[in-house]
Amino acid sequence: MPNFETVQVTTDLLICGGGMAAAGAAVEAAYWAKKNGLKVTLVDKAAFDRSGAVAMGLSAINEYIGYAAGDNSLEDYVKYVRQDLMGIARDDLVYNIARHVDGSVHLFEKWGLPIWTDENGKFVREGRWQIMINGESYKVIVAEAAKNAMKDAGCDIIERVFIVGPIMDGERVAGAYGFSTRENKFYVFNAKATIAVMGGAVHVFRPRSVGEGLGRSWYPPFNSGSTTYFTLQAGAEMTCQEIRFIPVRFKDAYGPVGAWFLLFKSRATSATGGEYMAERKAELNNWAPYGLVKPIPANLRNYLGMLDVDAGLGPLYMETAEAIQKLADAFKDDPKAFKKKMKTLENEAWEDFLDMTCSQALLWASSNIYPEQSRSEIAACEPYFIGSHSGGSGAWVSGPEDVSTPYKWGYGNMTTTKGLFTAGDGSGASSHKFSSGSHAEGRFAGKEAVRFILDNNTLPALGDVEALKAKALAPLARFEEFSALSTDPLLNPNYIRPMQFMFRLQKIMDEYAGGVVSAFKTSDKLLERGLELLAMLQDDSGKLAANGVYELERCWENVHRMWQAEAHVRTILFREETRWPGYYFRADKPKMDEANWKCFVNCTFKDGKWEMKKVPVVPMDV
Ligand code: FAD
Repeated sequence: MPNFETVQVTTDLLICGGGMAAAGAAVEAAYWAKKNGLKVTLVDKAAFDRSGAVAMGLSAINEYIGYAAGDNSLEDYVKYVRQDLMGIARDDLVYNIARHVDGSVHLFEKWGLPIWTDENGKFVREGRWQIMINGESYKVIVAEAAKNAMKDAGCDIIERVFIVGPIMDGERVAGAYGFSTRENKFYVFNAKATIAVMGGAVHVFRPRSVGEGLGRSWYPPFNSGSTTYFTLQAGAEMTCQEIRFIPVRFKDAYGPVGAWFLLFKSRATSATGGEYMAERKAELNNWAPYGLVKPIPANLRNYLGMLDVDAGLGPLYMETAEAIQKLADAFKDDPKAFKKKMKTLENEAWEDFLDMTCSQALLWASSNIYPEQSRSEIAACEPYFIGSHSGGSGAWVSGPEDVSTPYKWGYGNMTTTKGLFTAGDGSGASSHKFSSGSHAEGRFAGKEAVRFILDNNTLPALGDVEALKAKALAPLARFEEFSALSTDPLLNPNYIRPMQFMFRLQKIMDEYAGGVVSAFKTSDKLLERGLELLAMLQDDSGKLAANGVYELERCWENVHRMWQAEAHVRTILFREETRWPGYYFRADKPKMDEANWKCFVNCTFKDGKWEMKKVPVVPMDV
């Protein structure tokens, strides 16, 4: 095995990850660090400018309250999120993000993000909460501001270092360990507080895409469950691990539908032209009270479409041509204005994809789709873990100090592990924060982490660094030891390569935990069998082998995914009801049970054991 240099970095605050939440945390923490003579270090496995879910750009900012202008109230946002999550949400966290989110958006604009404005200079709304942007360079702009703030405060950004896991000093987090994805270097970070913001997880379930298209999924493939792994291994309590997100998107290239539904007011229909949202309305009574309040929760909207597919009415379609025509019809008496309007709408339709999912534009072009002439297929994607979007999975974090909430134990956004904070996709039960809310929550976590450091200004001990190094690099050593024993290093009885390991994980999840192949349905018996198979996979994770640092990263990504998978399966099994049909359906418990299960399900992994528990939902009085 090549000799790996050990690089030790000592800092006050460590930020693991470089996405929207990390950028927010960096901006805020750098400011407070400078004032207090502290040092912040941010570590990203990729290049900060283009990393995370916003890497390719976005066409809308999905959370903007417009509080000062009186567009919306914070209370309405809290109610909206609670309703969309079928009653299971932490109002205190949602409220806290909502009251800070406009500040982040105004900073984005100041930093140079082009936000669409109308003739009165007001932001153009896509829907009630969303605003339109020219967002191809969104992440670059936000990262640049964070870099400037960090530079100004004498802080460091380290790119292309993959964080494997936490280092603990008893009950307190002492930092993290990882390795360079480019050089033979093992990294150990020692910090007084750590913010784990490494996004959610994709490729835990088998994607619809196969062969050369394998990496294509709705959720960009950069995030592999590292936040969940990190917080679980640090002994932190997790919540809502059952709330996966399944978006319905344009089929195969996963293009966004938000602009079509909200801006263009398009309808979704079955192959025979029926509008499932209208024709299957009666089904919503079964999911009262949530099914009867508008906006109808995302999972229920999915579910009505899935019922059509189950009934043989698929494929489903977005009626793009009809929507464009309707909008242009307002100008039909003036041929010149009509032509101009049609051109504008066509441009907007294509730009929506070019801003954030170029591959959808390519797919349309290569399959002769003209959105103004024909409808276009949509489908439910495979499940993802993205607590900042319409899922809810993440760590159980402390609520803000000044808000009346039963969920409070000190510093805002600190997990139940001392000194460990999280935000964005990392913090659970507070969905619908999206890019802007993740940034705002990151800022809040950054400030609170600095406050923690000022109150706990000691450096925790690192313990046995050599043992961590051996653990992190073990797949390299295994490959070196055994690869010559077979003629093809891909096949070897002594090890498993990361790609094959991932396929095995995805097959288990797809077939037993309600993925695409099982039409998102599962049951107690399937889940129990899935857990048996996951236990064997867990055993075999000790046999992962890597031919170089590139594969070493792939090995650890898959270990992280496997832990996310287990937390998910255990939580679905524990919750004996179906609450989010359209995300998953427990066929053995097909109904929602408000009396027994209107609660959070939290889990921890401590001393080699999983513990599951119910936690009451205490709504804020709004
Ligand atoms: P991310 O921004 O994804 O950042 C995660 C970071 O962690 C990355 O820098 C990554 O490189 C790093 N990382 C991961 N693992 C490791 C590791 N092991 N070691 C070190 N670093 C690591 N929001 C909107 O407002 N509008 C939209 O239109 C919109 N559309 C979306 C479309 C898609 C397809 C997706 C996936 C999300 C969309 N969102 C949208 C939501 C938004 O992107 C997320 O809410 C936001 O990016 C979450 O921020 P985060 O910091 O938690 O994660």
